[in-house]
Parts: sequence; C-alpha cells; structure tokens
Amino acid sequence: MNPQTLSSSTAVEQSATAALYDQFVLGNYARAAISIVRGCGSRVWDESGRSYLDYTSGIAVCALGHSHPRWVEAVQRQAAELVHVSNLFRTPNQGELARRLVQRAGPGRVFFCNSGAEANEGMIKLARLHGRKVSSGVEGRRYKIICARNAFHGRTFGGMSATPQEKIQGGFRPLVPGFAFAGLNDLEGFRALIDDETAAIFVETVQGEGGVHPCTTGFLQGLRQLCNEHQLLLMLDEVQCGVGRSGRFFAFEHHGVQPDAIGMAKGLGGGFPIGAIWVGKTSADLFTPGSHGTTFGGTPLACAAALAVLEVIEKEHLLEHVMATAPHLHAGLAKIQADFPDAVKNVRGLGFMAGIELAFEPPPFVAKLREGGLLCPAAGGNVVRFLPPLNTTRAEIDEALGILRSALSAR
Ligand code: PLP
Repeated sequence: MNPQTLSSSTAVEQSATAALYDQFVLGNYARAAISIVRGCGSRVWDESGRSYLDYTSGIAVCALGHSHPRWVEAVQRQAAELVHVSNLFRTPNQGELARRLVQRAGPGRVFFCNSGAEANEGMIKLARLHGRKVSSGVEGRRYKIICARNAFHGRTFGGMSATPQEKIQGGFRPLVPGFAFAGLNDLEGFRALIDDETAAIFVETVQGEGGVHPCTTGFLQGLRQLCNEHQLLLMLDEVQCGVGRSGRFFAFEHHGVQPDAIGMAKGLGGGFPIGAIWVGKTSADLFTPGSHGTTFGGTPLACAAALAVLEVIEKEHLLEHVMATAPHLHAGLAKIQADFPDAVKNVRGLGFMAGIELAFEPPPFVAKLREGGLLCPAAGGNVVRFLPPLNTTRAEIDEALGILRSALSAR
C-alpha cells in the first residue's frame, strides 16, 4: 500500500490506539508516540502513513527485515498445515531446526523455548545440574554463576538475578541467590570470584542493553581456560548478538572459542517468538525427561519461521553481507564522531550491532531521530544502537547516517 492511499481517518485511529493503550495496557514501557501498522524490508509505516527506516528491527529481532517473502511463505504454509501439538510429540521442523543449529554451534543438542529470558533460565538450570554432577551428585554444593557487571540477561527471576542493575532488580528482591559479578573483559576479576561453590561463567558475547560492549578475544579465551581448569560451564548469552548479527552466525566465532552452552532467541525466528539453548555434547545429557520443559517450545510454526530465517541467511549470503557492509556503517559512525566530538563520545560494536555513546541522555535524541525518519533504540550508558536487518543495503545505511548527522547538526 502506498502511504498516500491511507485515509485521513488513520489520524483518528492513531489517537484511538493511544487511548486504548492509555486505558488498557499496563504501563511498564515508555513507548514512542507512534503506532506502527506495516513493515516491508528495512522500513515500517505508522498509522498516518509516514515511513521510517527501521534500525531497531524489533530490538535485533527482524533479522530479514519485515515481511521477507520467503519467511511469509513459510509461515503461511505451516500455519495452514500444523501450528502446535506440544512437546508430547515429535514434529519434523523441530528436529530439523535442532540439526541446523547443532551444525552451526558444534556437537550437542538443542532445547527450544519462546524468548531470550526463557533460554537463559534454561542455562541457569543447566548450571545447577552441572554443579550437582561435578559434586558427585550432591545438590546445592556448586551452584554459583559468575556474570558480568552491566549485563542484561532478561526479566525473569533467574535472568534478573544475573543482571546487576538497579533499574532491573529494584522492587523485586529477594532475588535468586548465587550470582557474583566482575567487570566485562576483566579476566582477573572473574578469576578472583571463582570458589569451590562455582558452577559456571555466564556472559553476553556482546553486551547489548548495557551499551554495546563486545568481549575481547583474550577475555573469552581466558574464560574458556578458567572454565576448563575449574570444571565450570562457559555459557554465552547470544540472545541479541547471535544468528548473524555480528557477521558470523554466533558472535563467539570471531574469537575462536567454543562455549559449553549458548542461549539464543531474538533473530532466530525473524519476528516469530522462539528461543533456544544449545548444550554441548558433554553436558547434553543433564536434562532428563521431566527435568525441564515449556508448552510452546519449538512449535512447528515457530520452527518453520526459524528454518526460513536460516535458509535466507544462507541463500542470500547474509553473513558475508554483514561482514562486507558493517565496516561502512562503523566508518560512517566514526566520521560522525570526528565531526561532532562534543556530542558523540565513542563508537563501538561488532557487525550490525553498533552503538554510539552520546554526551547526553538518549531519549530526546532518539525522538529527534524518529522525527527525522529513523528508528533506533537506546541502551545503557547514554548509547544509541544501530541494529539494522541483516539484509539492509549500503544506500539505507547512508540514509541512516544522513538522518543521524542532521539530528546532530540541529542540536
Ligand atoms: N539476553 C540478552 C542479551 C538480551 O538482549 C535480551 C533482551 O533484550 C534478553 C536476554 C531477554 O530476552 P527476551 O526479552 O526475549 O526475554
């Protein structure tokens, strides 16, 4: 539909939508003042017919952009065939998706769930089972997990407890015991926290919500070594940085490190809710029948969506595209930093997970970008993130950089 064909009644509907939210939707989000009705590729349209370049991508979810024809076809076909039967039965799509993820991650097995937080809950439970195994079957002796300061692992009790931020934890204590924290990339800090109750180390390969902070290769390799020395699981949260966003399928592939468990979600379903944990071969038998589960995990429909994402990533060479195109984004951001040194303090990231650190609070600036036609999410530490779909073009990147430059000039 052409934006011009939208009737003027949509303006009324827009305020009607806002009124519905005001009256009926819980107020736990500070939402932008637009209602989005349609998406295509890297663009979305609001109710008034205005289009935006969408570099939020549903917070790193819409890996193929909006309404990719192959994804739409796969979801429509599967919806007409079989949507859900529960995990009391096998379904071909779940088996095939597990095989494809094992191909990517290494020998092991996969558990399917519905979100990033749920994937991380699964890994936290895996750490407890591992702790029992390496304590000769004694439960509760080794249960501690060392995480990074500034991390974000989700809003469930396990995820929150692994997320040492007042804005996440405040109001919800007491939390799950057994989490300790050191600075990201501070290997000695992690080493110092290991004791005879420690079961695992758990970090995001690239911190997202905390402000786009990638792990260094030395840090991750050092963690691997620490885990080997102390019989700890190395668990990586790739919920945001995984499934191609970094330019490799998993971000840890940039560092030559093999984890013991990986949490993923967001980009995996390309917009359809699905999460997963991959568990390496030596720990893959820790979950036994009845020890963990979820009604909706790995439905035929969710897995069809994820299989379409993996297929398009391969057929359209999207990992290669991100690797080839991301330097253009990062160079453009660096140039803008050089031109606006008082406003842009730092530029960092990996692949299509880029952030600029501002000298001021992001929310009004994010609104300015939106007014200019660009949707970008904020993150911790005064950061604005650029999370384009994996198939965004160089021309679209230039358009985003132009809107950013204009918004900075107009300050
Ligand atoms: N882990 C990371 C690294 C995330 O970025 C997020 C969400 O932003 C989560 C976990 C939680 O995922 P979800 O919101 O799907 O529960």
